[in-house]
Amino acid sequence: MARIVMKFGGTSVADPERIRNVAARVKREVDAGNEVAVVVSAMAGVTNQLVAWCQELSPLHDAREYDAVVATGEQVTSGLLAIALQHIGIEARSWQGWQIPIRTDGAHGKARIDAIEGAELIRRMREIRQVAVVTGFQGVGPDHRVTTLGRGGSDTSAVALAAALAADRCDIYTDVEGVFTTDPRIVAKARKLDKITYEEMLELASVGAKVLQTRSVELAMKEKVRVQVLSSFAEAPGTLVVDEDEIVEKALVAGIAYSRDEAKITIRRVPDRPGIAAAIFGPLASAAINVDMIVQNVAADGTTDMTFTVPKADLPRAEATLAGIKEAIGYAEITADRDVAKVSVVGVGMRSHAGVASTMFRTLAEKGINIQVISTSEIKVSVLIGAEYIELAVRALHTAYGLDAA
Ligand code: ASP
Ligand code: MG
Repeated sequence: MARIVMKFGGTSVADPERIRNVAARVKREVDAGNEVAVVVSAMAGVTNQLVAWCQELSPLHDAREYDAVVATGEQVTSGLLAIALQHIGIEARSWQGWQIPIRTDGAHGKARIDAIEGAELIRRMREIRQVAVVTGFQGVGPDHRVTTLGRGGSDTSAVALAAALAADRCDIYTDVEGVFTTDPRIVAKARKLDKITYEEMLELASVGAKVLQTRSVELAMKEKVRVQVLSSFAEAPGTLVVDEDEIVEKALVAGIAYSRDEAKITIRRVPDRPGIAAAIFGPLASAAINVDMIVQNVAADGTTDMTFTVPKADLPRAEATLAGIKEAIGYAEITADRDVAKVSVVGVGMRSHAGVASTMFRTLAEKGINIQVISTSEIKVSVLIGAEYIELAVRALHTAYGLDAA
């Protein structure tokens, strides 16, 4: 007997027929004698619709009300799945974030989970073999209002629940068969990985491989939750996300990810003096805007240009924030470019092997692709390029690092 958390993404619960299919999968685990908790996303497309309605009514809407709206998607699917399970004779109960409770901080729209009260769910699993069907993506804040965890947050809900319940496994069911060397929609020769390290998965997730939310991987790594990514439409085993010492043959490059979700901001003629970076990035941080790649040019005449990227969705707020500090900082102007994309190569093997970055630069040069910004970490090299080159870049790099399937 094992205790498992099963998480189903939006496409897996997209309509009643698919919810029935999910119920059958859950039943199989229960029949095998396992204790099961399920975490569900909203039906495919629902969250997008809810977000769009908030945007339509007011682009700078109140984040508390955004949460009140978007949290409803998961409420629907948790109730529906509980009904489907009961219908096939499985004891089941739905739970919204506040009912468990899943306590979060007060950062509405991108809240973080502080604690999950697991005792009651465990008691019900043990005593009446009840399956808990938990809403992903949501919790309750210090002000007792509903919070949401940011897009894709149900993955984090699932991993946090697995940690709180001391589950043996957290199976994330999605519409792909696992984690691939790159996006198979762009590269037909992409391969499914059997295993990947937490760190590689973290880098891939943070640079746009949308299969798992970044925070869910951080949490899995911290809490040592064994995560499996697998398809709810196939029977094949998926990709296990595990500790580095579980992987014997470490690839130089595990995968190539890309993101079209970033925008580039350049602040021209910023006075070059101590404290200026803090004066720019402090207010952006206070506005909860994640700045990613940053470059500062060499100062010529006592001023410098500062270029960085922010999530596209945060661009209006970033521009508003920077406009608010124009006087105080004394820069000349801001320009923004939305037609950029980021491509990254990731692999723990980079730690011990040189030449990964130069292969990347040479490959892009051969295709005539200009690099606008570069950033690196211990196991990743990322470049910002024109959005129109992204597919070409990903394909060329996949081949250059020998990742193409035979
Ligand atoms: N429904 C939410 C979203 O689309 C959360 C999730 O599915 O993970 O972002
Ligand atoms: Mg998702």
